[in-house]
Amino acid sequence: MANPKRRHSVCRKHMRRAHDFLVSPHLGKCPKCDEKSLPHQVCGWCGHYRGVEVIKMETAPETPEEKK
Ligand SMILES: [Zn+2]
Repeated sequence: MANPKRRHSVCRKHMRRAHDFLVSPHLGKCPKCDEKSLPHQVCGWCGHYRGVEVIKMETAPETPEEKK
């Protein structure tokens, strides 16, 4: 079995483990355009929040197939 030559410092251990606790944001689905958006926030695709248009978007929301 390969053994480490030296003990890693606590700082180095914490730097390595910093990435273990990254979590992706919990995305909900916009009821207006069915795009993923953050909950309790204005949808970034269509500018709607709780059925009300808060931000006027320049273009109409695209479907996921059109974005690629
Ligand atoms: Zn939307």
